Amino acid sequence: MRIGIDLGGTKIEAIALDSTGNELARKRIPSPRSYDATIAAIRDLVAALEAETGEQGTVGIGMPGAVSPATGLVKNANSTWLIGHPFGRDLEAALGREVRLANDADCFALSEATDGAAAGAKTVFGVILGTGVGGGLVVNGALLSGPNAIAGEWGHNSLPFVLADEMPGPDCYCGKKGCIETWVSGPGFAADYMRDTREALSPEAIVAAAEAGNRPARLALRRYADRLARALAHVIDILDPHAIVLGGGMSNIAALYDEVPSRWGAYVFSDTVATPLLRHKHGDASGVRGAAWLWPEN
Ligand SMILES: [Zn+2]
Repeated sequence: MRIGIDLGGTKIEAIALDSTGNELARKRIPSPRSYDATIAAIRDLVAALEAETGEQGTVGIGMPGAVSPATGLVKNANSTWLIGHPFGRDLEAALGREVRLANDADCFALSEATDGAAAGAKTVFGVILGTGVGGGLVVNGALLSGPNAIAGEWGHNSLPFVLADEMPGPDCYCGKKGCIETWVSGPGFAADYMRDTREALSPEAIVAAAEAGNRPARLALRRYADRLARALAHVIDILDPHAIVLGGGMSNIAALYDEVPSRWGAYVFSDTVATPLLRHKHGDASGVRGAAWLWPEN
């Protein structure tokens, strides 16, 4: 049995999967706001799943941010109470077994590559387009991870093929301007619409207005699709993945799956672009399922 834990800013989700990926049990609790309480909550969730199923499981954890390979300490996490702690070591002590940790975007990519929308694809770029923008790379069924633990983190690269009126770009929390995240995250999309119309609307409301024929909303959606096409064109040039899967709130915009591939041909260095752009299969469950799949060998 595989246990996956998805550590979010507001909730912790836990799942137990059997060897073929069927869900055996599931739990959800509000996220504690302290480090020690987080460790205790995960220990209790694992115990509860094992009591319910009567089996012992491997444990994989999807988390915001990453564990620095150099120090073993958490970095880049928006759940700030984790930062600077030896999360992996402390969890292993609390659970009495080896634990595997990965970034939440990596877990999304792994889930969709294992038995989701991109099942069977040799190389997969999984993208989260939500409040932030992240990504993960799966090669032959395994997450690609490097010495900085940032593989696939394209959200803080510059928007490519930038237009004159996109310079220098919106301020990003990372300290730079014009990062991909400032354009293609949900808040980035809403901010772009607001700069054009001076009207504050949620991303969902802008999409609804575009579908109803509202012209500024349609133009905002068109700009969004073009920026996403440019951003993904760079990934295709470097990695040439067999599939790209979108997740996160913005991935639910149905028009993207036609609009983006119809535009990225202008930017990819190839006469044709055969890359499939896929909508996630497991949705919000991909984080917790991908965490469980961090132990593929079970
Ligand atoms: Zn940035």
